[in-house]
Amino acid sequence: MNIIDIINKKRLGESLTKEDINFFINGVMDSTIADYQTSSLLMAICLNGMNDEEIFNLTDAMINSGDTIDLSFVNTVTVDKHSTGGVGDKVTLVLAPLLASLGLCVAKMSGRGLGHTGGTIDKLEAISGYNVELTEEEFLKQVNDINIAVISQTGNLAPADKKLYALRDVTGTVESIPLIAASIMSKKIASGSKYIILDVKVGNGALMKNIDDARKLAETMIEIGKHYDRKVICLLTNMDEPLGYAIGNGLEVKEALDSLNLKGPRDLNTIVLNMAAMALKSFKDISFEEAVLKAKENLVNKSALAKFEALVSAQGGNINDIIISENKVEIKSCEAGYIKSINALKLGEYAKLLGAGRTKKEDKIDYGVGIVLNKKVGDYIANDEVLLTIYYNDETNLEFVKNNISNLFELSKTKVEPVKLILDIIY
Ligand code: URA
Repeated sequence: MNIIDIINKKRLGESLTKEDINFFINGVMDSTIADYQTSSLLMAICLNGMNDEEIFNLTDAMINSGDTIDLSFVNTVTVDKHSTGGVGDKVTLVLAPLLASLGLCVAKMSGRGLGHTGGTIDKLEAISGYNVELTEEEFLKQVNDINIAVISQTGNLAPADKKLYALRDVTGTVESIPLIAASIMSKKIASGSKYIILDVKVGNGALMKNIDDARKLAETMIEIGKHYDRKVICLLTNMDEPLGYAIGNGLEVKEALDSLNLKGPRDLNTIVLNMAAMALKSFKDISFEEAVLKAKENLVNKSALAKFEALVSAQGGNINDIIISENKVEIKSCEAGYIKSINALKLGEYAKLLGAGRTKKEDKIDYGVGIVLNKKVGDYIANDEVLLTIYYNDETNLEFVKNNISNLFELSKTKVEPVKLILDIIY
């Protein structure tokens, strides 16, 4: 067997066998296959797709490339959550403590941001002192003690995904349903949780630009879950505008805290409540409506907030010290009208230009900078009213961002409906 035959097979649209796929992943792991050969096969997969069996085999090979976490001794049902990535997506910061307060165990390993989307680990590091690197033993003990731990994904969990993702990111091969499904599910299965809630983002700020692709991705991930006896629930949610108002690490932690204090934005609250209710409904066998009531109750009585505080404190963070830059500048609208659209993708890129995200893995990010919107789609803005506030430190790209950011908002003279947030729930 050799990699060139495998590349040619996929280039011609043929199916790869389990042996082909294992040969490929083993070669990626022991570096006997060169990056340019891997990239070539990834591109052929992007162009010609994979059938269900190939996707299972790829997921399996990626899981077997590293360790798996055994959560079977954890006292209660374990739940994990993943988002396909969006702008201003701080759902985990609110949802994870809410689920833990409802009696589920959240043993979560999260990633860092890359490109225009942020990562939960970068956000948590905006809380002074928060330690994202626990040993496996400390991680499991904390999950058993307080029902929740959120740490950085260990290097040896589906390490093949790490290698493949780094190449995909720089070879235009991220947006492939089989590759995304295998990437996400290999990490989730290896992390050990029984219930997996997935937020599949759809829209201009997301990997899936249309609902049909998002549905196909969700269905593929649910099928993979069944294969491993995991219950997978997918919410398809809109990413045509950023989630909430804040974009940038410290700013997003603050907004998540507002949410846990019942002062959060409507769209963030809606997604959190729907995801929490779907998880609770499946594991407690109660109706969706009852589950929503239980979730709301734990927000109102501040048990979810208490869980977040317990999480931060257990991992050494100081919740009263969130890194947010003191340098800010307001951008005002030079016309009046209803906000018709907001370019989430570009806003994410502008936040990155300010220092909130990375272009390369090694880049250092500035936790305190970002953008806070004052208006969302459907809102009316008057002439000279504040559209958003930019938080900055380094001024290298500030003038560019200041001069161009209003162009990311499209205004209409006639009334505009707010975006529909939950597009579908599939399980
Ligand atoms: N998130 C992942 O973890 N992997 C992908 O391929 C895309 C989004």
